[in-house]
Amino acid sequence: MKYDDFNTLLVHSTGSRTRAIAPAIVPSAAFGYESPQEAEAIFSGELPHPLYARVGSPTVTQLENTVARIEGGIGAIATSSGMGALSMALTAFLGVGDEVLCIGGFFGGTYTLVNETMRRFGIHSHFCALDDFSQIEKRLQGTVKMVLIESVGNPSLQLPDLPRIIQLCNRYNTLLLVDNTVTPLTTRPLEMGADIVVHSSTKAMSGHSAALGGVAVLRATKTENEKLRDPKYKDLHPLLKKMGEKSMIAICKKRALRDIGMSANAFAAFLTMLGLETLALRLERITQSVVTVAQALHEQLPPDIQVLHPSLANHPDHQRYLSDYTEGCGSILTLECGSRERAFALLEHLELVIQTANIGDNRTLALHMASTIYREFDPDTRTCLGVTEGLVRVSVGLENPQAIIDDFVKAATVSA
Ligand SMILES: *Cc1c(COP(=O)(O)O)cnc(C)c1O
Repeated sequence: MKYDDFNTLLVHSTGSRTRAIAPAIVPSAAFGYESPQEAEAIFSGELPHPLYARVGSPTVTQLENTVARIEGGIGAIATSSGMGALSMALTAFLGVGDEVLCIGGFFGGTYTLVNETMRRFGIHSHFCALDDFSQIEKRLQGTVKMVLIESVGNPSLQLPDLPRIIQLCNRYNTLLLVDNTVTPLTTRPLEMGADIVVHSSTKAMSGHSAALGGVAVLRATKTENEKLRDPKYKDLHPLLKKMGEKSMIAICKKRALRDIGMSANAFAAFLTMLGLETLALRLERITQSVVTVAQALHEQLPPDIQVLHPSLANHPDHQRYLSDYTEGCGSILTLECGSRERAFALLEHLELVIQTANIGDNRTLALHMASTIYREFDPDTRTCLGVTEGLVRVSVGLENPQAIIDDFVKAATVSA
């Protein structure tokens, strides 16, 4: 699909073509059945009517269909938050004694989810550096059942060699989950061969800081070379046999969403759909602005503050940015200020840029990482996640890029 086709798809995929043009909000928690026979057919999955809002409702379904289309999945499941989508995917496919391989740096919540919460329930995780392929392959030869990776590390800004990781996961029949929060539309992991894509729709998809949400997109199961048929996934085989190509949707619904209930609500789904209508347009602007802002700040900030962005020639993943991320790598750039004091001084003098723990918003946002999202992590873990004492994460928004540049240059100069 050409990038501009996303604009066409997105503005026409929500709402109806007559009467109400905007999507309808159906807030009902319960849905009636016309007869006991109909109730039975709905519960058996034979009739695709809404059953009960915990396992799906019309407004949420509309959002799910749109996201499934833009990611090229067989279906999607919207959740109450991005963490909800990640928890759903992990708990649906894994159980006690299973192992997860986490490659590269991670969002703080994802790290604590796998390293603390999942661990308490007997799911163990290993961590590998992004390009340590010998270690990655060694782990995959073992008993790992799922690999987790971010399409662009938040906030490490590491760019993975996704084709190579996909190839390895396929060779060892291991599920690959890609957190694509930072790069909706511009990176399409399912089309590349990943198995599960997860988004925090709170971020760029929604864009307005108005709706918390998440979504997991699943691929169709295959008739040949289906990695889920590997004996290590034997507890999933009954569902695989019964549900055909939509098995992965059924696995998420029946083994996580139904029983844990991280379900999306209609109003958040509606707001997310409003955001989605302009996602392609906003991202086009933002991925251009982030390059402009990174370059200008690289030239104009005082020498004690370093700009990190893959579009800059000095970034370790610059070559991969040029070859694999031709449509950009999202809204984030980071500023290495050297120390917490320098970072705080810079942030205190920002006037336009908003300080908050969000990314992908229409407004430009900034946050000191080590004192906020990563405050409870020990120094080794922070290093492994790419977080230093002086790191400030910036998510570039829709403002005139010159206004963003001016705000940072002024704040950095005044506070020097
Ligand atoms: C924000 C974020 C999450 C968590 O999403 P929430 O909607 O805040 O629960 C997960 N992964 C990444 C990469 C994120 O940026």
